[in-house]
Amino acid sequence: MDQGEDSYRQQGLRKRLVESLREKGISSPAVLDAMNAVPRHVFMDTALEAFAYQDRAFPIAEGQTISQPYTVAYQTQLLQVRRFDKVLEIGTGSGFQACILAEMGAVVFTVERQRKLFDRFREFAYKSRYPNIRCFYGDGYEGLPTYAPFDRILVTAAAPVIPDQLLVQLKPGGIMVIPVGGKEGQRMIRLEKTADGGIHQEVYDNFSFVPMLEGKKG
Ligand code: SAH
Repeated sequence: MDQGEDSYRQQGLRKRLVESLREKGISSPAVLDAMNAVPRHVFMDTALEAFAYQDRAFPIAEGQTISQPYTVAYQTQLLQVRRFDKVLEIGTGSGFQACILAEMGAVVFTVERQRKLFDRFREFAYKSRYPNIRCFYGDGYEGLPTYAPFDRILVTAAAPVIPDQLLVQLKPGGIMVIPVGGKEGQRMIRLEKTADGGIHQEVYDNFSFVPMLEGKKG
């Protein structure tokens, strides 16, 4: 991306958005800096680009959505990402969340079940800035056993229950953030796997995500 694609106007709107996230309770400087660094408009359809710095979710291809900036910041803050953490993300979608994690220095493994979205992000020009992102086409319910265990797991689709395989693939001392519930809404859950393999769970606010579906879609 060159300067021409991220205008002063867009940079200004983004700063304002980040300020509004701070007012809504996002306090982590690392999260706010990443939200300010990654230009959300490049992840959106040209027709919607003008709205990129509103704090709203928007449609992307295949009936999916790019999450609301507040939701991205909220999940990322709960995840407590550290540099060089190995992070598994379920639900690549536009790839915006993956870039936020990569901007914070994580090593990101992101999984998408829809072939078109997977292909699109894999070839997305802006992604070349982040050699620390790897894309996988697969079913997030299975996680990525070959690359496990992970320091952090972030699920960005509504899970009816916490998938067993993801629990197995979380390191002792690791953290998972996942919205759990049906289409009426989900509660954000943060769970920690203790050193002895126990699970400590905390329940946070209500959100509304697209569903986490089983199996791959070609
Ligand atoms: N993180 C995304 C938001 C994605 S919306 C972003 O920043 O834009 C949720 C995504 O999860 C959708 O793209 C959907 O296709 C995907 N998804 C749903 N069920 C899945 C599953 N079982 N495995 C992997 N991806 C899944």
